[in-house]
Amino acid sequence: MITYLIDLGWVNLAYLVASVLFIIGMKGMTHPRTALRGNLISAWGMLLAVVAALLANGLSYQWILVGAVLGGAVGAITAVRVQMTQMPEMVALFNGFGGAASVLVAGAAFMTAAEPDLQMTIATGLSGLIGAVTFTGSLIAFLKLAEKMPSGSLGFPGIKAFNGLLILVALAGTAWLAVDPSSQMAYWLVVVVSCVLGVTLTIPIGGADMPVVIALLNSYSGLAAAATGFVLMNNVLIIAGSLVGASGIILTQIMCKAMNRSLGAVLFAEFGGAASGPSADDVYGGKVKSTSPAEVAMMLETAQRVLVVPGYGMAVAQAQHIVRDMANILEARGVLVEYGIHPVAGRMPGHMNILLAEADVPYEKLREMDDINNEIAQIDVCIVVGANDTVNPAARNDPHSPIAGMPIIDVDRARTVIVVKRSLSPGFAGIPNPLFAADNCLMMFGDGKKALTELVQALKEG
Ligand code: NDP
Repeated sequence: MITYLIDLGWVNLAYLVASVLFIIGMKGMTHPRTALRGNLISAWGMLLAVVAALLANGLSYQWILVGAVLGGAVGAITAVRVQMTQMPEMVALFNGFGGAASVLVAGAAFMTAAEPDLQMTIATGLSGLIGAVTFTGSLIAFLKLAEKMPSGSLGFPGIKAFNGLLILVALAGTAWLAVDPSSQMAYWLVVVVSCVLGVTLTIPIGGADMPVVIALLNSYSGLAAAATGFVLMNNVLIIAGSLVGASGIILTQIMCKAMNRSLGAVLFAEFGGAASGPSADDVYGGKVKSTSPAEVAMMLETAQRVLVVPGYGMAVAQAQHIVRDMANILEARGVLVEYGIHPVAGRMPGHMNILLAEADVPYEKLREMDDINNEIAQIDVCIVVGANDTVNPAARNDPHSPIAGMPIIDVDRARTVIVVKRSLSPGFAGIPNPLFAADNCLMMFGDGKKALTELVQALKEG
């Protein structure tokens, strides 16, 4: 029997207000200008929900305090220390911890319940299944993003059938739990099998398909929390989990559309089935031309329309501020400067938007991929700053390429393309880029920030 420290009506009212704050907060996050406020509103909602949950039950507060202080300290230190470039892997890791928390909370509630009913057993099984898949799947995503394991497709022949078998065993474990709620063994079977499933589902997906998996794991963490909400019969957890689950699914759909992939094709790609493209030597052999900041500054003197296409390398180099300085100089000369944003550029959804907003680039100057592709032939100079896969014409021209069919920003169709990167190394998908050998393309080799600082200097001197 639960003892309530405050009246249940007040608790539910607090949960209702928290849920409304989550929804208003999410609405705010749909636009960069209101995103920060939206985030804060949601955070207040979460604080209210946590306080209400703590006051609702007669709990042993000393352990909760220890957990809150320890967890809060780890969170605060990580938030302060983490580099902007490490954000994507940190988000993946925290996502995984959300899944693990669902597994542990649902399991603990189930094992201490006097008489678990059918709803509780099924919700517990699902929480264990989805939460464990989220946990290990997110750990793999973390390792791939942090480049601590190869980012491409890994696995073994027959991995699809193996995954099918694991799903069946996990579901059978959930059914066992429903039939015999006293069996803790059934719960641990579901959790262990699902932990393996999270790994084997995620390792074959790699390269340019990663954004889809990351969005999907995000959604799973919400679904696991919602299932745990049904175990605890906690309304605010059900609502918050459903919001994360639903928004994650919408993001997954957006990512699939951006990559021109169906969800099934990403999730059930057979290991080893990926096509391999030509080697770097074949693509680049003697055809790559390099340029210098002084030469680019001269080219820009006659340009009327310039497009900056940023990618992951801009984040690594932290070149967004110098990009903005360059744009300021050009705009003062009457040049139209815009930014072409690919939906999966960088390592997390909206990565480029965040960096450019940080450098005070006006939001109106950001052009979406389809939109700018229609006008790309009118661009005099396109400056690609650390983007690679998202501007790789092999996606359009080579049906055997691992990224075949993925929409790209067609920078190769601009009059002149300048690519700023350190070397001819590949991007996340690990494949060479024929753009770098194109007739209208010049490579400005160097760290993004350093090369653009030299370019700004040359522009000022010119
Ligand atoms: P890429 O990963 O294709 O390429 C980035 C390029 O940046 C590299 O080729 C690298 O070349 C260059 N670079 C690295 N450091 C620097 C530096 N200091 N200065 C200048 N250049 C640098 O980037 P894109 O943004 O074009 O594509 C994103 C890729 O990541 C896609 O394949 C996408 O699917 C994947 N992905 C995206 C996610 C998302 O949610 N957005 C999530 C997970 C994966 P060099 O070493 O020669 O400098």
